[in-house]
Amino acid sequence: MTDVSGVDRARLRERLELELERFVVSNPRSQALYDRGRKSLIGGVPMPWMMRWAGGFPVFAKLAIGARIIDVDDHTYIDFCLGDTGAMAGHDPEPVVRAITDQEKTGITTMLPTENAAWVGEELQLRFGLDRWMFTLTATDANRAALRICRQITGRPKVLVFSYSYHGSVDEAFAVAAPDGSTVSRAGNVGPPVDPAQTTVAIEFNDLDALEKALATGEIACVLAEPAMTNMGIVLPDEGYHQALRELTGKHGTLLIIDETHTFSAGAGGCTRAWDLKPDLFTIGKAIGAGIPAGALGMTDAVAERMFEQTEADYEDTGGVGGTLAGNALSMAAVRATLSEVLTDEAFEYTIPLATRFSDGIRSVVAEHGLPWNVTQLGARAEYRFENEPARNGTQAHDASDPELERFLHLHALNRGVMITPFHNMALMSPATTEHDVDRHTEVFGEAVRDLQA
Ligand code: PMP
Repeated sequence: MTDVSGVDRARLRERLELELERFVVSNPRSQALYDRGRKSLIGGVPMPWMMRWAGGFPVFAKLAIGARIIDVDDHTYIDFCLGDTGAMAGHDPEPVVRAITDQEKTGITTMLPTENAAWVGEELQLRFGLDRWMFTLTATDANRAALRICRQITGRPKVLVFSYSYHGSVDEAFAVAAPDGSTVSRAGNVGPPVDPAQTTVAIEFNDLDALEKALATGEIACVLAEPAMTNMGIVLPDEGYHQALRELTGKHGTLLIIDETHTFSAGAGGCTRAWDLKPDLFTIGKAIGAGIPAGALGMTDAVAERMFEQTEADYEDTGGVGGTLAGNALSMAAVRATLSEVLTDEAFEYTIPLATRFSDGIRSVVAEHGLPWNVTQLGARAEYRFENEPARNGTQAHDASDPELERFLHLHALNRGVMITPFHNMALMSPATTEHDVDRHTEVFGEAVRDLQA
């Protein structure tokens, strides 16, 4: 008996059990390290989210090169997870390795600027169009700083986010719209400083009426938005949505922050360049330093002027924006090398067609088996989901999640040397990924689907 996803649940459970057994048998060294880790680490891993890997424990990495990971049991994986975007440049891009090796010999962190910082500021201006930049260590930090700045300069208390968006561990963003339209805490929110309804208005993505209504209250300092949602599958904006978002925020004096941490996959200038977006502030992290911690916050001259007009706001010491290691020499060297030599326009001309090939491969398997599944692509990123049509907002995407089916497909792939992100069904292409890698994924995905149906 199949369900809405076209899958026989009893068979799915039976096949998942077999994959779990196979995983344990073939990963004795990873399991031993995991057992050892459990004596000193929370959950046996450096961060609890690493428990999310489909096998019940993660494989432990020995070597990551190009688009490959080799684990301690000597399995080689084609890596489509790429550190959930942190390694979109590939695992050991030669220009970055060279730049950071040179930099670490000449100073890692000094509290002084380096020439690389000015180069990076100029490059970010060219790519994304924002006039002024500052640096953080992560995208989370960039978003936190952006929210503070927006509240400070507008004098308004609230932030607008979209239900089931993710922007890092940013307090204000763990809110969703309840069915009655009110804003409530997202399930599982750990120790929120205040009820998120006090700081946040959450609405559905692609809902212009809800947006207009929320902005009309005059309470909203800023909208924090990904150009397309990427953390609950890929949810693309409706035609004209961004233009309306820009017009409505402008009309109501609300600032628009665009977070391109994941959507940087759309091209060297992200969606901001590809779709001609005109945000007031802009945030990014993860891939810009090829995985060396680095985040950036951009803003227009108009926003920067408003920031510095308010002499009572302390941006230099204990005002709540900043970090000792932010903008350090090593990060800046990594970002310069990544942007100048690795994640270039030419790189995306290579990786985007790979993601199209990946998506086409999934579509061919899905069509062959008549499954009600869809695939979405955003530049070098692709993601499949278990409904006929892609979701139009985060709540729809959330309600259609199928953790058991995901787990089976992820583990089946992992057991055959193909790795995709543990959180959803995301695959990302790097300059080191090949057509052969993509075709291997299609082959393994086809085997998994056949296995479920036999
Ligand atoms: N913004 C978006 C859109 C993200 O997806 C994430 C993390 N997945 C972040 C920000 C935060 O990145 P980090 O955890 O590296 O700070």
